[in-house]
Amino acid sequence: MKCVSGKNSYDSEEVAKEALIQNRIRFNHRKGSGPINIYECSDCGAWHFTSTGVEASFLNDDEVVKRVEKEIRLRDWADEFN
Ligand SMILES: [Zn+2]
Repeated sequence: MKCVSGKNSYDSEEVAKEALIQNRIRFNHRKGSGPINIYECSDCGAWHFTSTGVEASFLNDDEVVKRVEKEIRLRDWADEFN
């Protein structure tokens, strides 16, 4: 489904959350930069990222923080051999 906003669309909150976490891992954004939250779109009904407003609280969950740090460490470690 294509949205007038031109943003990537995610079917559910859960899918959008996971995609946002993966995005943080992939781009290793500094705190407060890059997409920081998700929202349900009033145009298309799907979920999108936003980089404005308040940071999503789930990004600060212990489990998520640890996972992001671990994935980034693993990736950086792999990069050294490329
Ligand atoms: Zn939309």
